Parts: sequence; structure tokens; C-alpha cells
Amino acid sequence: METALRPRWPQPMAWAAELLFALLYVLLDWASYLRPLVEGFNITPWNPQQALAVAFLVRRPSRAWVVFAAVGAAEVLVRGWPVDSLAPWAAAGALSLTFLAVARALGPEREDATLFDTRATLVRFAVAVTAGALAAAIGYVTILSSAEGSLGSSVGARILSYWVGDAVGLLVTLPLLLAAMNAAGRARLLETLGHPTMWLAAAFTCGGLWLVFGRGEQDYFKFFYVLMLPVAWCSVRFGVAGAVLSANLTQVGLIVAVQGTMQRDLTVFELQALMAASGVTALLLGVLVDERARAEAEARKSLRFSAAGQLAAGLAHELGQPLTAMNNYGEACRLLVDRQPEQREQLVAAMGRMLDEAGRAAQVARRLRDFFTNGAITIEVTDLGPLLDAAVREQQRAAGRAGVQLECAIDASLPPVWIDAVQIAVVVRNLLANAIEAAGAGEAPRVVALQATVHDAELHVAVLDSGAGVPAARLQVLFDAAHSAKSSGMGVGLSICRSIVEAHGGRLWAAPGPGGRFIFTLPVGNT
Ligand code: ADP
Repeated sequence: METALRPRWPQPMAWAAELLFALLYVLLDWASYLRPLVEGFNITPWNPQQALAVAFLVRRPSRAWVVFAAVGAAEVLVRGWPVDSLAPWAAAGALSLTFLAVARALGPEREDATLFDTRATLVRFAVAVTAGALAAAIGYVTILSSAEGSLGSSVGARILSYWVGDAVGLLVTLPLLLAAMNAAGRARLLETLGHPTMWLAAAFTCGGLWLVFGRGEQDYFKFFYVLMLPVAWCSVRFGVAGAVLSANLTQVGLIVAVQGTMQRDLTVFELQALMAASGVTALLLGVLVDERARAEAEARKSLRFSAAGQLAAGLAHELGQPLTAMNNYGEACRLLVDRQPEQREQLVAAMGRMLDEAGRAAQVARRLRDFFTNGAITIEVTDLGPLLDAAVREQQRAAGRAGVQLECAIDASLPPVWIDAVQIAVVVRNLLANAIEAAGAGEAPRVVALQATVHDAELHVAVLDSGAGVPAARLQVLFDAAHSAKSSGMGVGLSICRSIVEAHGGRLWAAPGPGGRFIFTLPVGNT
């Protein structure tokens, strides 16, 4: 069954691709058949052509007969089996069927996935190819050994060697082919290849190969671990793409070095078993690194969302006051026009205040947006006295409505401070509004007092009220967004106030009662 995920090729191109595959298969078989363990058997340390066959079947599962023809042709052309004997074709049948089973076990090719995206897919891959390679080894070696009449005690060793060579080919080469087959995988491989670190790792691998094989020593295992270092390094640095590229580089280097130095013996297979283990370890590391990178990206995205949510809630909170004021002034204007059309002056004054409130709302929105998007504050030398006076005046009417007396005690010798006046005004307004509300809900006498003093190079502004105060258990959580006790409020006022004060190098806290006690400091610098 063709996978429905990719468009079919036009017929001539499909044939050309199949022919190209068969040629490449025979060519790779010939190239890797340099040092067979048993003459006439394809038992070599590395069988990359097997990976090519599985990759081909992942994409074109209905073309198993092409693989069958290519494998049979390789047996005849590379290993000289007579074309009219049954053995090479029976072996080709066994191999192509196992390759097909492995391809099916890997699942349909996915356009969007760059290879293994989770540990589960990697484990499935490793199990499928190791079991597939074992099945291929048993089928291939038994068929050819019985055809040759040498089905004896050496069959077990032959199967083991074939299995190792085949499994290494699949475990190391197949991930590279699968990645190169889809556009996203290709892009990642090319991007990784373009990185200088990869080339540094390649140079390190060459150095490692020289250390293992170049010094004429026979104990090749002594320094093999050196070859694992660049593979692990690339996997940690570049994820699966780095793992796949560096494992293949090491594999090719290993085969070239082995061809140049070694006698035909089993040591090569033992080296290959090590290679297979380090290849799988590298893939596992790569998958873990990719998984972590994905999780970090997700976390960043959700953080951005929650910051945006906080900003939106903050804006809604801060704009509530001026919008209500504008609404009231608008109502007043309408009444004046309806009932007393001659009171032009009052009308102009109310509309002026409406415009002032609209300007203030726009300024608050802009400054808060700047503050929350890039932490920007527009600092200028400011006299805090007039700013505090203005904030108290603004709240006079609300205090009157709540039956609260508003007092103001500002130290006359307050030094000027470097602040973003709009943002600090937001803080003071918030504290005053909360205090008036709390005092209004409490017992008489209902009082709110704003005090500003200087202590040890710090300016202290305290907003005190005669309300119920804040229970000790809530003193800390009060400043977390979403901890409002009021059903109508957003609960972000105090958390925004604290962010603003801290951005100015100050502190904001709630002190234990009696009554409400909110205090913030601002550093007094050189002005
Ligand atoms: P909001 O006013 O929208 O609820 P705030 O962050 O300004 O958000 O306030 C959070 C909570 O802190 C309020 O719901 C209230 O319970 C408590 N609070 C704030 N100021 C005072 C105060 N002066 N006295 C008692 N409780 C207060």
C-alpha cells in the first residue's frame, strides 16, 4: 500500500528511482564486501545497503520485488553465486521479506517529523531493527550454508557476525537515510552540518581514529572510548541531527581505518558491536536533548501567554478608574445639555475633565504596556509632594462618597527623586483606592492617611487606613496576581504596584495592623 501522505511520482520517475536504488544497492554491497568473514557470504563488519533497502521500503512498501531483485543481483554479481541456482534468490527472498517487516514496523513515513521525536519512537526503532537484523541473519546464513553444504558448528558464529554487521548498518545508517528523506529532516541535517562545532568534532574523530588504529598497536579497544566523546558531544549540542551525523562519520572512519590496518578477524565485529552501542546511546541522548528543547519552547510560549494575560488584566484594572470618570462626566454633559442648555461654561469644564481623563487613560495604557513588554520606565527628576497631593485630590470625591476622611502628611523637605511619575501615580492611586474602600467598609471614624517621610536615604510613602486591615496570613500572598478577596476586582493591582516599585529600586509591603498599612520606598539618589 502506498502511503497516502505523499503524492505519487509520475511513472517514468518512479522507475528511474527504483533503478537508481537497485544500482546503489549493488554498488554499496560491492563497496562494503571488502573483508568478508566467509568467502561467498555477505558477512562483513558493516552492511549499509541493508539500511538503504529498508529506507526504500518505508517510502515504497509495494515495491518489495525491486528489493528482492537488487539483493539477488548483488549475490550473483558481487559474490559470484550462479544466477540459475536457487540459493541466492531464496536468500534474497528471506532478506527482502525481513526488510519489509522492519519498514512496516517503523510505521508510515511522516512528512512533519524529523525522525525520532520521542524516546518511545526511538525504542520502537531500535527493537524493530535489531530483531529484523537477527531474523535476516538467521534466514540468510541458514539458506546459503545449507546450499553450500556447510551447515555445521560454525553457523552460530556466522549468524552472530551477520547480525552485528547488519544491525550496525541499520542502527547507524538508517536514521541518516530516514532523516535525509524528508524536507524537514534534510534542513536540520544541513543546518547542523554548517555549524563549526560539527567540523571540530569531525577533526576530533579523525584524531581519535589515529589514536585507536594509527599507532600500530593491536589492542584496538584500549582507546575506543575516545571515539565516543565527539559523538556524545554532537548529540548533546545538536540533538538527534548531531547524533546521526557524528555516528555516521565515526562509522565511515572506523571502516576506512579497519580496511587499512586490520587482519581479518573477529575483532572488527566486536568493534562494530561497540559502535552500535555508542550509536544507540548517541541517539538516545539526541532524543532527550530534542525533547528538552521542545519542552523549553513550550514553557517559553506559555510564559509569554501568562505575561500577556497579566498585562491585559493590569490594563483593565488601571483603565477602570479613568473610564468610569469619563462615563460620569459624559452623563453630566448630557444632563447639562438636556436640562440647562445655557450652562455652556460648566459643559466645557466637564468635557475638559473628560478629555483629561481620556489622556490619562491613554498615558497609563502606554506606559504600562511599555513596562510589561520591555520593562521600560521613563525616568525624570520629580518632586513627590505635588504628585502625592494630586493623587489625594483625585480621590477626595470617592472618599466623600464612602464617608471617609482623607488626611495627607507630606514632609516639606522631601528631596526630588528619579521616577516614572505616571507609574508611581498609578501605585499611589491604587493604594489610596484600596484604603478608602477598606476604611469605608469599617467602623467610624473612617480615616485614610497618606504620609511621606525620608529615612536613611530612602523615601517612605505610607498609606494607612482605619479599616479591618490585612490578616497576617495574607500579608505575603496579597501581592501575587489573582489573590483578590473582592469578587469585582482583578486582584492584579498590588502585584503590578510591587513590580513598578521594584523596577524603581524600591520595596512595597503590607504591614500588620491595626488597620490597613501599606508602605513603599523609593531610593533617594543624586539629583
Ligand atoms: P483588587 O483591588 O482589584 O482586588 P488589589 O491587588 O489592589 O486588587 O488588592 C488585592 C486584595 O488585597 C484586595 O482584594 C483586598 O482584599 C486586599 N487589600 C488591599 N488593600 C487593602 C487594605 N487597605 N486593607 C485591607 N485589605 C486590603
